Amino acid sequence: MRIPYATQWIDAADVKEVIEALYSSHLTQGPRIAAFEKKVAEYCGARYAVAVNSGTAALHAACFAVGLKPGDEVITSPITFVASANCVLYCGGRPVFADVQSDTINISPEDVNNKISNKTKAVIPVHFAGQPCDLEELSNIAQKNGLVVIEDAAHALGAEYKGSKVGACKYSDMTILSFHAVKHITTGEGGMILTNREDIYNQLMMFRTHGITRDGDLMINKHEGLWFYEMQLLGFNYRITDFQCALGMKQMDKLEEFVSRRRKIVAKYDQAFRKIANIVLLKEKAENKSSWHIYPIQVKSDRHKVFDALQREGIGVNVHYIPVYLQPYYSELGYQPGICPRSEKYYSQAITLPLYPKMKDEDVDTIIEKVSAALEDCSI
Ligand SMILES: *Cc1c(COP(=O)(O)O)cnc(C)c1O
Repeated sequence: MRIPYATQWIDAADVKEVIEALYSSHLTQGPRIAAFEKKVAEYCGARYAVAVNSGTAALHAACFAVGLKPGDEVITSPITFVASANCVLYCGGRPVFADVQSDTINISPEDVNNKISNKTKAVIPVHFAGQPCDLEELSNIAQKNGLVVIEDAAHALGAEYKGSKVGACKYSDMTILSFHAVKHITTGEGGMILTNREDIYNQLMMFRTHGITRDGDLMINKHEGLWFYEMQLLGFNYRITDFQCALGMKQMDKLEEFVSRRRKIVAKYDQAFRKIANIVLLKEKAENKSSWHIYPIQVKSDRHKVFDALQREGIGVNVHYIPVYLQPYYSELGYQPGICPRSEKYYSQAITLPLYPKMKDEDVDTIIEKVSAALEDCSI
């Protein structure tokens, strides 16, 4: 039987809630959206939350809300999903890639500092694999240089940094989440932006629905009556549905359990792999509690061979990530290989092992066994 690299956990409580939403008065633009937003905001410790239909939409909205314009530069990590950088392109800006730290594979604050120019407007740190970046350092650099910080926490719902939950926006202007099926909680597709800033919140609320507001207090012209609305900016339809939010609410009830199960699996992996010389594990810093979205290892032998051997054995291994700037679209824009050597070295050795709460202990044992065997075979 194949072990996938990730899969969702849906139970009867989830299904029941979604069915109720489907039979209710609102499939979309109903009360479940605000309820879901409130639940996530309270869990994370943020004042405002805006739910949208993907993590990518959340990133786009975040870039829009800080007024990103053509010519502006935004610094992010190359070891991420393409969406973390594409959101800058959507606004006509230019993503600038800062290298990762070789132990955590999170963005290096030092290299962020090196990549700042007079065009830099924002930094998008990605909490890789679920471990928070060095947010305090990044926030200090941002403050010194007048930059906005947007945390890409698509991997990190449930993680903690220096005693506070990721998403509290203590060291940032916004945090974005993804609820894609492989993430910590799912709404099928979905995303959210968390913030403590009211000005940003108002922009985000309009942006997700065509740039339209019905709030009388926000009108530019005279409010003419109950039918009245104003389109004040060029937004999109990035709305999430009520039945997705119904699922999200029930998933939130299980989040702590999900995260703790992920941590238990990782502890088992770590214990076994620490003894193997050819494997390098991600370092978890003392101030962090990772929520472990993925479990990437680096193999100091032929990665292709190890990867293929595990695939043949039915283990759904994956690679996170190909450095974004090596993608053909980015090459076309003029990005050259070699910009971030530590990221490229990491990529050449990376393999992601399966990790999801539904995994059985036997699956974990099987994977440990197969990985050990594959490494032995491939090192000869
Ligand atoms: C999943 C993911 C996204 C995008 O989220 P979608 O909901 O799939 O649009 C963005 N950044 C990172 C790091 C991700 O893993």
